[in-house]
Amino acid sequence: MLFTTEWLSELFVDFQGAAGDSIPLEQVTTDSRVETKKSLFIPLVGDNFDGHDYIKQAFDNGAVAAFWDKQKERPHFLPTDFPIFYVTDTLKALQLLASVYRDKVDPIVVGVTGSNGKTTTKDIVSAVVKTSYKTHHTIGNFNNQIGLPLTILSMPANTEMLVLEMGMNHFGEIEQLSNIAKPDYAIITNIGESHIEYLGSREGIAEAKLEILVGMKPNGQIIIDGDEKLLEKIHNNDQVITCGFNANNNVIVSQPKVMQEYTSFHLSDHEEYTISLLGKHNALNASFAITLGERLGINKVEIKKALKSLKLTSMRFELVKGINGVSIINDAYNASPTSMRASIEVVKQMKGFKQKVLVLGDIFELGNYAKELHQSVAEAIDEEIAVLFTYGEHAKEISTTVKEHQKKIISRHFDAREQLLQALQPYLSNDVLLLFKASRGMQFEKLAEKIKLPL
Ligand code: ATP
Ligand code: MG
Repeated sequence: MLFTTEWLSELFVDFQGAAGDSIPLEQVTTDSRVETKKSLFIPLVGDNFDGHDYIKQAFDNGAVAAFWDKQKERPHFLPTDFPIFYVTDTLKALQLLASVYRDKVDPIVVGVTGSNGKTTTKDIVSAVVKTSYKTHHTIGNFNNQIGLPLTILSMPANTEMLVLEMGMNHFGEIEQLSNIAKPDYAIITNIGESHIEYLGSREGIAEAKLEILVGMKPNGQIIIDGDEKLLEKIHNNDQVITCGFNANNNVIVSQPKVMQEYTSFHLSDHEEYTISLLGKHNALNASFAITLGERLGINKVEIKKALKSLKLTSMRFELVKGINGVSIINDAYNASPTSMRASIEVVKQMKGFKQKVLVLGDIFELGNYAKELHQSVAEAIDEEIAVLFTYGEHAKEISTTVKEHQKKIISRHFDAREQLLQALQPYLSNDVLLLFKASRGMQFEKLAEKIKLPL
């Protein structure tokens, strides 16, 4: 049980029905379509829908109490004892409830933000802390103004550690999430270019990520990408711990080796670590989790064991076998210029292939920066790469730039997906590595699917 209607009635005093009867609430839901027994239904209002219209469905699906906008008429068909809590704004009420529930359970809270690597770092952190604490964490990408409160409200009452991903598109959003979550620890994974359309510049993006400090507990600790110049202004803060490849960091990551199924690296504690994820950037992501784990007093042996058996969320740099034994990296879950360059770097770092082929598509939401930032992806491409195929309006900039500067690389742009698939045929062999990467909307996973072995 999360809490009772009686407990709620102390917080939301304007109510009707049998709230005082202490009805137990097991879940909080905003989705009336899903069966949620003994739930509190919170109707949200969006551009194209109004949750208040679905109270009947929520009731039929197990809601035993609901929030209700004061301005709206109370639905007549509900039993008179059904508890309804009247609020001025249901989203704000959801956020307030999450914030109070966070304090009621009072776990150690870790907030993870950054342009890239939030989900990955959240997953690594969770795997590490889970060895020693009852841990609850964000599922999937539930990282926004709605997802984060719902994540908090799905935490069991005996949770000791809460790991939250915090995402944003605009200024002020991380501040709001931080005020709800009140993190004891904050991690800023990196500063990239995602959502630059709304934030104006990389400096703006850094400012927006630093908003995570606003709601933090007074003695909280902040673990950051120490190699990022835009975060340098907080290096002198005693609460900050920097991790990175440069020698001036508090925690130095060195000798990263990217193998086919794992990455190994050293930290300045002279220990060697192995993670079952690929890429130097994942060594950095792991260094945040190790640093946090050590501050929490988790034994190194446990930490190492957790890192070795990490499971990747699907479509995030997933290595699979395809037709004729070709190795395929399906990284089609999403893309930003930084993450695309990072994935290309990993492909370059990977050992044991005769040829490496990149299949790249459009990165969305770059606004006026689209041309320049797609061109910047080309900077990561060198002769370690044999072939570059692009598809999509903006991705064309990548192949055009590579064609100009890297004469030895076969660089082609395609206007049709079928032609691209056709052109890939000669490269389907067991000594070839293929990378598929583009924004989610480009549906590159469907391309990868076409050359994957049937399961
Ligand atoms: P979203 O904004 O979609 O929630 P996210 O921040 O959660 O993204 P992940 O899903 O963890 O990010 O990773 C997305 C991609 O970012 C990865 O596939 C990888 O290419 C890249 N990436 C991961 N970690 C880093 C990092 N520390 N620096 C740069 N790029 C990274
Ligand atoms: Mg994410």
